[in-house]
Amino acid sequence: MAKAIPSRSEDYSLWYNELVKKAGLAENSPVRGCMVIKPYGFAIWEKMQQTLDRMFKDTGHENAYFPLLIPKSFLSKEADHVEGFAKECAVVTHYRLKNDENGKGVVVDPEAKLEEELIIRPTSETVIWDSYKNWIQSYRDLPILVNQWANVMRWEMRTRLFLRTAEFLWQEGHTAHATKQEAVDETRQMLDVYATFAEEFMAMPVIKGVKTESERFAGAVDTYCIEAMMQDGKALQAGTSHFLGQNFAKAFDVKFATKEGKEELVWGTSWGVSTRLMGALIMAHSDDDGLVLPPKLAPIQVVIVPIYFKDEQLAQIEEVVAPIVAQLKEKGVSVKFDTRDTHKPGWKFAEYELKGVPVRLAIGPKDLEKGTVEIARRDTKEKSFHPIDGAVDHVMHLLKDIQVNIYNKAKELREENSKEANTYDEFKELVEQGFVYAHWDGTAETEDKIKEETKATIRCIPLDQKEEEGTCIFTGKPSKGRVLFAKAY
Ligand code: AMP
Repeated sequence: MAKAIPSRSEDYSLWYNELVKKAGLAENSPVRGCMVIKPYGFAIWEKMQQTLDRMFKDTGHENAYFPLLIPKSFLSKEADHVEGFAKECAVVTHYRLKNDENGKGVVVDPEAKLEEELIIRPTSETVIWDSYKNWIQSYRDLPILVNQWANVMRWEMRTRLFLRTAEFLWQEGHTAHATKQEAVDETRQMLDVYATFAEEFMAMPVIKGVKTESERFAGAVDTYCIEAMMQDGKALQAGTSHFLGQNFAKAFDVKFATKEGKEELVWGTSWGVSTRLMGALIMAHSDDDGLVLPPKLAPIQVVIVPIYFKDEQLAQIEEVVAPIVAQLKEKGVSVKFDTRDTHKPGWKFAEYELKGVPVRLAIGPKDLEKGTVEIARRDTKEKSFHPIDGAVDHVMHLLKDIQVNIYNKAKELREENSKEANTYDEFKELVEQGFVYAHWDGTAETEDKIKEETKATIRCIPLDQKEEEGTCIFTGKPSKGRVLFAKAY
């Protein structure tokens, strides 16, 4: 069979793009930068969504929905926010089309011009804080812990399926608090939720950190993030949690009466992860034969392929397979028994490999004679024969083992490609391969120059970084600790 996708070493970028398409995850839409998420891709996203949604609810949050369109004036109420997002905003100016003069097409009706232009939300702080103004009067109305699942639009210039698109799906949490400490705690709590999700469900190790001023969310006081290493050594920012201070409360005049009867501005946070996580998942684990999915997020966890020549054989196989399917379902495993006669077993093997199904069972006439089944794991491609009786137990063991194994593999790759640099020459060489921990003088100017010369950026100031006196690799000025540099997606 012809090779479905190029190898990672040939062309990592092309490997990714082809894999997304060939595995049936997504494709480009007629509008540049937008994407069609196909059923298999959406099934993975739904699993992510369900897990995250449960985690948000377990930490006390509720879902709500705010509108797609925002009055243009709202955006300019917070100075940094407008500056950060203005360049990426799609604007709605008219509400009607009409037939053109020769009746062949349609044109914008100039008479249907909106009095106030609207923007398609790039993020919803403004429209949400405008509502919070009405929801909050006293300390009794706080905290507000709201999340919304939505689509947003940022007119990105350089796009790539899932990783950076003009329209993307995400969740955005927006919380309001009576005290600074409570808001800071919330920001950190949600960062931890994201890190737990990335590591325990996506099997993707992450570094938690805080962004430098130049990478901070427009309108935030502090932006926390999780950063992951992809297989080519590049970093991907996989989630952000922002401490907004009182910035949006000020902009939208959201005040509350304290217990003591004083009037104070409300403290805020916002936090989000997007369909970019799909890109992260693909890039973190997959190989030259296709997707490698963590069992906890795989839409199909186990596939069973019958190998038969005559219909009676299929009937015999079905008899043996039915209890296996029933037992796996009982244990909450999603299992597919692929009895289609339109495709050969070899084709099915390749297809499920491409789609990253963690465990594959194959059973044919010889197995029936011997009472065995062939069990293959997707991550290591190891295959072995097992007695039919113990098959379910072995599958359960494998699902757990694959989840742990791909996490460890990703972590090893990150450790191998994370180095400390003490001189700028050393830095330039190391940053071509992966993460580099180096001293920095704390100025945006130095950060910019390093970026200009090497294309590497400060991904974050890691939270668990020990204090260490040193000198900036670029200017030689004093530094209090190493920061994480990398080239990034
Ligand atoms: P932000 O509001 O900029 O902090 O971003 C919130 C989340 O959306 C982060 O997890 C980003 O990784 C993700 N994100 C930002 N821009 C895009 C984009 N163009 N496509 C997909 N995800 C994005």
